[in-house]
Order: sequence, then structure tokens, then C-alpha cells
Amino acid sequence: MKKSGFTTLALNVPYPKNDPHKSLQIPLYESVAFEFDSAEQIEANFKGEYVAHTYSRASSPTVEYFELKLKTLTQSNGVLAVSSGMAAISNTILAISKSGDNIISGSQLFGHTLSLFQQTLPDFGIDVRFSDLKDSGKLEELIDKNTRAIYFETVTNPQLEIADIEMLSEISRKYGIVLISDSTVTPPNVFNAGKLGINIEVFSATKHISGGTAFGGVVIDHGNYDWRLNPNFKDFIEKFKDNAFIAKLRKNIYRNTGGSMAPQTAKFLIQGLDILELRVEKCYQNCLALGKFLSSNQKVKKVGYPGLEADSRNFLAKKYFSGIPGTIMTFDLESKEACFAFMNKLQIVRRATNLNDNKTLIIHPHSTIYAEFSEEERKIADVRDTMMRLSVGIENVEDLISDIKQALS
Ligand SMILES: *Cc1c(COP(=O)(O)O)cnc(C)c1O
Repeated sequence: MKKSGFTTLALNVPYPKNDPHKSLQIPLYESVAFEFDSAEQIEANFKGEYVAHTYSRASSPTVEYFELKLKTLTQSNGVLAVSSGMAAISNTILAISKSGDNIISGSQLFGHTLSLFQQTLPDFGIDVRFSDLKDSGKLEELIDKNTRAIYFETVTNPQLEIADIEMLSEISRKYGIVLISDSTVTPPNVFNAGKLGINIEVFSATKHISGGTAFGGVVIDHGNYDWRLNPNFKDFIEKFKDNAFIAKLRKNIYRNTGGSMAPQTAKFLIQGLDILELRVEKCYQNCLALGKFLSSNQKVKKVGYPGLEADSRNFLAKKYFSGIPGTIMTFDLESKEACFAFMNKLQIVRRATNLNDNKTLIIHPHSTIYAEFSEEERKIADVRDTMMRLSVGIENVEDLISDIKQALS
């Protein structure tokens, strides 16, 4: 049989038909605990001989189906759903490293990831070393025997820089360390991380996967790392073999730190996956149209979107992301005042801090997300006070263009 397309596959991942009504959607199992038929059965469950859900902090049927759907769509070894993108990142790092270890990270990061790496993890003895990921020499210099991972974002925000993934994969393989990507802005319908040598992928499902309807996070194990190379997995290798990473997360980190996904959230995210490809494609078409419109407007000084042919990163966008390098763009007006005046005139585009929402959202990063940074730090991060970030949604493109046009005039 021919390999199914993304949406066909998403709509046809089977679920257990225990429901007497033969519901065509998996029901929402909004229950804390699950019942057993006998004392013997519950004993067998706790011994690991009879597999069933027991308590929803550990696992629950609706969340499990969301994980299965994503596992099928990414053809990965294992998927864990958690309460937020930050929970996905922190759970992953806590599973891979312990006090005395270090990880290496790109320096352009989502703000709270940066804060986790600079402030929270060092308090627990995990050192994060930042590097320009384009400089392979510097990267290798930072690696020592306690380095457990290289961490990067597929497309950084708001700089929209794209890493050299093959180089990162080669270095991580050479030193036997895990390569982790935050792929939030490049969802699985446009990006095949496992094929490029990424071992663990984390996502904020809050973004494209939910479309702005629910909070969630995802950890994906691509099954391409030998966990015997990391001493922190020695208690899990023998019993769980290739599943050592997900097993450690489930039986230790995730269950014990309590960042589980709510069943109701999983229901939103299941629907999000069903229509992910449609929404991302629409956002992308809108992005291209808006990028071209803005590029040709005299008041606009600069447009950043790697999806545009004229953008210097366009070849990487094509190489890694099927030409769809996320659906966020930046553009500059002549001054901060001009940006604020423009933003205040918008009627369809919303002023809000989320991204990859179904709605088109705008923000002025310099005065908001980067408000606590020094001018020097903003300069290093290339966050200008003349720049706005536009996260493009699925509205009718003519409506978006006419809104932007009137706000520019
Ligand atoms: C939003 C975001 C996160 C954090 O996700 P939450 O769901 O808000 O916790 C992490 N990484 C990136 C790239 C993000 O955009």
C-alpha cells in the first residue's frame, strides 16, 4: 500500500473501541483513577504483569492516544506528553543529566528556556555552556567527559536563524552525546528530525499543535541514540533497552515531578494534529503573501522570513523544512514610535505574546519579551527597537493585507 499523507495518517490512527456507542472520535476520559476487577489484578498491575491505567498523573487513555498519534506521525520510538513546553524541556534535561554534568546550548533561545538554563539548572549543579552553534571549533572545545547533550532550536525566534543540523549531528555522534532540538516552530509535517540525526525532540504543543487553544508539551525519542553511552541510564538499560529514555522519564522524572497533561488538553491537541497540516500550510501561504507585500512597501525597512527566496537562509529552509521554515516573520519600520503607531491601528491582527496561533499576532519584542535585557544583550540577540514580530495565522489573506495596509498608511 502507498504510504499515507500526514493528514490521512493523523485521521486514521486507531484507538481501542471500548465505547458502546462506537464513537468516531476517541472519548474524553476525564477520570483520576481507574478500577480493577480483583485484588489479584491490581497486584499484577503493580508488578508490571498486567498493563492498565491506574492514576492519571502517570498515564490516562486520552493522553495516551495523543501520544500514539504523534508517535505514528513521527515514526518515532516513543512519545511523552506533558503539561507545557517548559515541562518537556525541563523533564528532558533532568532525565539526561545530573549534578556535575553539563550540556551545551545555542545562545539564541526562547526566553524561559534561557532562564531555565542560566538560573534554575545551575542551582541543581547542571552547568549549561552557551555557544554560537555555527562555530564547530568552539562547540568542540566546550565538550568534556561530563557533557551529556547539545541543545538547539530549529529556527530561533525572533532572529529566525537556522542551525547547521548536519554539523551538530556529526559532532554529537562523534562525542556520543545526545542531540536535542526544540522543534516548536517547525512541526512534524514539515520537519523530519530523526532522519537528520536529532535524538530527542521537544515541542511546545501550545503553539502550532494546539493553534492557541490549549497548553501542552511533547518529548519525542527518535530511537537513534545508544543510551549505554550515558551513565545516568544504567538502571534502565537492562530492563528497558531501547526504551530506556522514555522509561526513565515515565518511571522517575515525569511521574515524580508531576507535570502531566490533562485529558481535556489531550482532546484539544488530538484535534490540533488532525488539522495541523492544513493550518500550517495556510499560515505559510499567508506568510509568503504578507512577506512579499511588506517587502514592496516603502515604509518597511527590512523583512525577515527564511521562506522568502530573497532571504539568505532560504536554502536551509528548503533543505530542512520542506521550504516551510515556520510561519513567523519580522519586519522593521523607521522607529519604535512608528512601530507602536502601526500596532495600535491594527484591527484584525492581534497584539499578543503567543506564536503559531490560529490568529495572526503581533508583538514588539524589544519592549516586551526583551524588556528585562540590557541594551547590550538586546544587541547581541539582534533585537532592534524598530522591529516587530508577526506570527501569521489562518485568516483570509486579503483581510490581513488590507488591515496591515490601513495601519501603515
Ligand atoms: C513557547 C515556547 C516554549 C515554551 O512552551 P510553553 O508551552 O509556553 O511552556 C519553548 N520553546 C519555544 C521555541 C517556544 O516557542
